[in-house]
Amino acid sequence: MIFRDRISIITGASQGIGEVIAHEFAAEGAAVMLVDIQKAKLDEVAKKIADKGGKAAVYEADVSNYGQVSAVVESVIKDYKKIDHLINNAGITKDGFLLRMREEEWDAVIAVNLKGIFNFSKAVIRSMIGSRYGRIVSLSSVVGLMGNVGQANYAASKAGLIGFTKSLAREVASRGITVNAVAPGYIATPMTAGLPEQAKTAFLSIIPVQRFGKPAEVAHAVKFLCSDEAAYITGQVIQVNGGMYM
Ligand code: NAD
Repeated sequence: MIFRDRISIITGASQGIGEVIAHEFAAEGAAVMLVDIQKAKLDEVAKKIADKGGKAAVYEADVSNYGQVSAVVESVIKDYKKIDHLINNAGITKDGFLLRMREEEWDAVIAVNLKGIFNFSKAVIRSMIGSRYGRIVSLSSVVGLMGNVGQANYAASKAGLIGFTKSLAREVASRGITVNAVAPGYIATPMTAGLPEQAKTAFLSIIPVQRFGKPAEVAHAVKFLCSDEAAYITGQVIQVNGGMYM
């Protein structure tokens, strides 16, 4: 168990990639702090983890709201004394061609996908600096690297977090803290389940591995970046995309 006695905050943990990261980290001995806006689903995830002998706590919070985020972090520090891992996984899409994209759709995606990462990273960084240890991993996307029709807001948020990651990595590298991003390609989760068949077929045709990715394949990259073996890796974007973009 590589994460025994580690305290891990995972946002967007009620389903999809975040839920699988939570299970993987708990199985490695971490106490997982599950954050999401979907409280009932979070409770179910926490129960499944506890049933398997793992440790989990549930925090209902909107990552785009700094007040709610800092309250979560204060509560974790009060109860567990430290934070070792922050996994910024919560994310949303509000797709549409720029011609039709409404201002609210731009603002909502930037607020959750980009400001949410600022909020949580800012809230945990003082504690990580104090303990001279930390791992921050944020979920970017292949779309943040190559762009995608109908996703100007999402691509901007996922590209923006890469600049944030590299900057924060430089700021805290000397304090034992690494800051990295994982950029998945097309992963089968509730987020992608609703895409039209035509779009799925188009994606498949540009993936050399010729299949969609599994949430666990992303979770494994996140797990590695949080391990002690990854201490010399910081400011990087690890792509998990079946070769879709190289
Ligand atoms: P998902 O929609 O299945 O899960 C996202 C989770 O985030 C949900 O539990 C949701 O409730 C939570 N969430 C949304 N808004 C929130 C908020 N304001 N505060 C707190 N929680 C909130 O998505 P997923 O496919 O599991 O994606 C996880 C991450 O990986 C996202 O950042 C996504 O952009 C990224 N990603 C996914 C894919 C893919 O193909 N599925 C590809 C590239 C990147």
